[in-house]
Parts: sequence; structure tokens; C-alpha cells
Amino acid sequence: MIRLRRALLPAATTERLAEHTAEIRRQATEKERKDRAKELWANRRQVRPALVAGLAEMAPGRERCMYCGDSQGTDIDHFEPKSLAPLRTFDWLNHLLACSYCNSNQKRNLFPTKADGSPLLVDPSAEDPLDHLRLVLPLGTYRGLTDRGRACIEVFGLNTRAVLVEGRRDAYATARHSIELWRIAMDKGQRDKATEIVRVTWNRPLIDVLVAMFHQSGHPAAHALFAGEEEILDLLLDTELRSAFLHFRGLSY
Ligand SMILES: [Zn+2]
Repeated sequence: MIRLRRALLPAATTERLAEHTAEIRRQATEKERKDRAKELWANRRQVRPALVAGLAEMAPGRERCMYCGDSQGTDIDHFEPKSLAPLRTFDWLNHLLACSYCNSNQKRNLFPTKADGSPLLVDPSAEDPLDHLRLVLPLGTYRGLTDRGRACIEVFGLNTRAVLVEGRRDAYATARHSIELWRIAMDKGQRDKATEIVRVTWNRPLIDVLVAMFHQSGHPAAHALFAGEEEILDLLLDTELRSAFLHFRGLSY
């Protein structure tokens, strides 16, 4: 999971979402609100294209899932499930793009909360998941830094899905090659090639690995985190490289 910037929707879509929410609010009981929300969501054809376009713009890689970062994001997921919060069914701030595996097999209607009722899961469009999760780069597994990070690992199976763990190890190798190639291209004065490397690198699946590399290179314990990988750490700290890659995704680690 990486930090995402919420896209802006067309005004007509925002109005339509507000109308649907008002319609749900008008229902007399909670049961009626849930039923109406379900019914309206089943008929979301008019708003779906704009919602999907907005989510695709925000998504990591090429329209990848906002939770696992690996598979194509196919479903509009309600961060707070509509069965628990019918009034948030048409709330744009409650919509995330998920792959069908994360949506249907992992998250389902799970929405663990703290004792005070606040969510344990991290919404990557509202806060930085890296405050709660640390990727152990050579292993491809996540470590929970907080209860909320641990809840994300468990609910989304971030460490138990072998395709994700092995995929992150491959992504780490690929990302290291990419930054080396970028430096070589720049040293040869091949700016267009360097720009192309940045674009293609960010369009790959599992770009949480690349984000973790930049994030951890700025950590006070970076030398321990990159033990045996000093050349990569030096590249990640190269101001020119850092700015070329991070600026492209609007990140500021
Ligand atoms: Zn997913």
C-alpha cells in the first residue's frame, strides 16, 4: 500500500452522488437505509464510469489494486462497508479501487475497529500506510509497526499470499536495475531515455517496493536496512535521481 492522492470528480458526478446519499438519508429506519443503499448501488451505471476513471487516476502502477498493488483494480471497494455505513455508499472519500481477490476473498465485509470505534485498516487516500507498515525489502514481507499496520497485513493477507511476497522480491530486483539504468542513461546525457525509465518503472505492479526503497533510504537506520546494498543506498540518496523518481509520483520522502 502506498500513499495516494484523491482525484477530483466531475461536478455532475459529485451532484449525483449527493442526490443518492440524500435519498438514502430520507429512509426512516437503518434497515431501510441499508436496503435503499444496496438497491441504488446495484444501479450505479450512471456514476460508475466517472468513479472508475477517478480511481484509475489515483491508483498505483497501471490501475493496480490499492491494497495489494499487484493485480488489476477491477472493483470499487467501499473502505467502510456499505452494510455498516449505508450513508457512505456514495461517498467519494469512501471509494477505493481493489482487485477482485482483495475485495471478495480478503476484505469482504471486514472492517476491524479500535475500542473507540475508529478504523484499524489504513485508508491509503487519507494517510500514509508507511507510518504503519515497513517492507523488509530482501524478504518481500511486511512488518506491522502499529496495530493498524498489523490489521492491514492480516485482512489483506499481505504476507501469506505467496504471489505477493515472491512478486515483491522480484520487484525489488527490477527496481534496483531500473535506478542503475537511470543513472547510466543520465551519465551518458540520454535524458529522454532516463525519463522513459522513470515512467515505465512507476507503471509496474507492486510499486510499493520502490516507494519503500526511497522511504527507507531516508530513515536514520538506513545503513542497517540496506546492509550489503550500499551501492543501491547511494543511488537512492542521489538528489538528482531521488527528485526525478519521486516528483513523477508526487511523493516527498
Ligand atoms: Zn488486491
